[in-house]
Amino acid sequence: MGIEGVNARIADIQSRIIALQTQQTGTTMPQTRSSSVAASTGETFASYLQDAVAAAPAGGRTYSLNSKGIPTDLAAYGNGRIPASALEPVGGTRHKLWAPAAEALTRMIADAKRDGITIGVTDSYRPYAEQVDLARRKGLYSQGGLAAKPGTSEHGWGMAADLDLDSKALAWMRQNGDKYGYVNNVPREDWHWAFQPKSA
Ligand SMILES: [Zn+2]
Repeated sequence: MGIEGVNARIADIQSRIIALQTQQTGTTMPQTRSSSVAASTGETFASYLQDAVAAAPAGGRTYSLNSKGIPTDLAAYGNGRIPASALEPVGGTRHKLWAPAAEALTRMIADAKRDGITIGVTDSYRPYAEQVDLARRKGLYSQGGLAAKPGTSEHGWGMAADLDLDSKALAWMRQNGDKYGYVNNVPREDWHWAFQPKSA
């Protein structure tokens, strides 16, 4: 390539660096992201925006967690003692979760379906009596079993779902789950996905 070609290439690289710097500045201030950035960075911004939208609470609903990581709007009820009316259904299922977790899971299932991936839900909010029953049948996790100590389960706050995943779906979840706030946080339990959004 001639000198003009080299100069053009340098100019191109410089503009990309500026675009990236603009984009990185934007990550700390989600509300101020402007559409003009989208025009300058094109594809990179599109995928970035997709992640940001996936991580944001659906419908702009605000929520918060207390110092113990429990939803402030549910904490007073107690683990496994949340009335059904305070929870939200996971779209197209009989399952219920804390509202932001339900909305994120509903969105995730729909997006996975578009990728040809089927995510089933086998368990969601778990009342205290069911936690006791599960511990009796499956044993405590701390003792090699599969159940949390009753009253401490993430399911008792509507913050975890047990998912029915084939190997393709599990791979999809490992790649995409955290974009929706879902993490597989229990060794030995590929099916257990807790809702731990970065923005909460
Ligand atoms: Zn579970």
